[in-house]
Amino acid sequence: MRLFNTLTRQKEELTVRDGRVRMYACGPTVYNYIHIGNARCFVLFDLLRRYLEYRGNEVVFVQNFTDVDDKMIAKAKAEGCTVPEIAARYIDAYFTDAQGLGVRPATVHPRATENIPEIIEIVQTLIDKGHAYESNGNVYFAAGSFPHYGCLSHYNLDELEAGARIDVNDEKRHPFDFALWKAKKEEGEISWPSPWGEGRPGWHIECSAMVRKYLGTDIDIHCGGQDLTFPHHENEIAQSEGATGKTFVRYWMHNGFLNIDNQKMSKSLGNFFTVRDIREKYDLEAVRMFLLSAQYRSPLNFSQEQIAQAKAALDRMYTARDNFEFLKQGAQERAMNAEEARLVEDTKACMKRFDDAMDDDLNTADAIGAIFELIKHANVTLKPGCAKEAVEAVIATFKEMTGVLGLVKEKEEEKNAEVDALVEARAQARKEKNWKESDRIRDQLKEMGYVVEDTAQGQKVRRI
Ligand code: AMP
Ligand code: ZN
Repeated sequence: MRLFNTLTRQKEELTVRDGRVRMYACGPTVYNYIHIGNARCFVLFDLLRRYLEYRGNEVVFVQNFTDVDDKMIAKAKAEGCTVPEIAARYIDAYFTDAQGLGVRPATVHPRATENIPEIIEIVQTLIDKGHAYESNGNVYFAAGSFPHYGCLSHYNLDELEAGARIDVNDEKRHPFDFALWKAKKEEGEISWPSPWGEGRPGWHIECSAMVRKYLGTDIDIHCGGQDLTFPHHENEIAQSEGATGKTFVRYWMHNGFLNIDNQKMSKSLGNFFTVRDIREKYDLEAVRMFLLSAQYRSPLNFSQEQIAQAKAALDRMYTARDNFEFLKQGAQERAMNAEEARLVEDTKACMKRFDDAMDDDLNTADAIGAIFELIKHANVTLKPGCAKEAVEAVIATFKEMTGVLGLVKEKEEEKNAEVDALVEARAQARKEKNWKESDRIRDQLKEMGYVVEDTAQGQKVRRI
């Protein structure tokens, strides 16, 4: 498969070493609920992992939680509680929201505060190697000491100086030097002992330390939102390569922004919808569908109408799935006719179209197109009494594709035991010609979000 590598600014063939992909993603700073801009990248990381697994690789996926920083300290102060209490609350919330979005937990979710000794060790190495210096209990990385500084964002230090916003600070020797360790500012502030006094880690160093601890020195893929390219990822490269002298990451992958009125959705601008806000109105699976409707590097504009459209498309997938399952129940064990045999060939072609789209830098828009093409072919050809082999080929391909995208839940997962019991009770009522009871149960199912149709083959249940 080919992935766009920010480092080389081109799509490159992904080469996998010993069948195993080591990938790291920058996770949330846990001082607030995630918004759907954040959700875009978490859904993307999950998608990449699912696709790599589908292609037969073992994936070790690490996504951190930044559980100590200025914003967290400010939030704890404002609420009169501790930083770990704030972290625990929003880490819990992250997992709930991620599950709703179909985002599986990573292999490991390390937290900055659980890796302080590893962070201190790498800071010390950087000082020893002349890449960092201490000043009043703070430690800074000397950007100029790393010859490739700017390699990811494709700037050199002079250009950066002319263009970027930088915080002015007397202790720093150069404006682009950045903090590795921050001295404790006031009594009661969360801190850890270190060779430079009480303090806490800077943001960038925690990722370098956690990548090294959980994945090693030379990893395959590092991902994050486009806004992290500079300075966060640039600084990660300088720290990690400065400490080890080895290539840090082979492929850098960055997702485009989720915008609202063509402006980046962000906490600081206040123009955001949290995943929780959206959940009030829409099933989060519709949000996942919406986020996958565009290729991950293109900007994506958010609106309620777009979510409604994504929901309608997802409903069409569910209806198709229910229809295939229903036809399978009444399918015949016989040789396929010519049309059915052609359908099986079309199914293979759709699968290839899907794989090609995903191989091309995860082009989910085209991959979703391949699913609807499969549905179209199947709807034309599959009839009650169709050959079992044909309907089974369609179902297997449909499940493969939707499974890779993390869409369309398995029937067992989705339809609860209560629905099954009601359908059973309705069948009994109909057998007894108790039409009143049968209608009552149908209405009850409708309220629960299911429609029942009576067909020659029996009751057909589908989600509204
Ligand atoms: P934060 O918690 O703000 O550090 O963000 C977590 C992740 O969400 C980072 O990888 C950001 O790059 C990403 N992110 C933040 N806002 C957006 C947005 N509007 N669109 C896409 N990704 C975003
Ligand atoms: Zn990071």
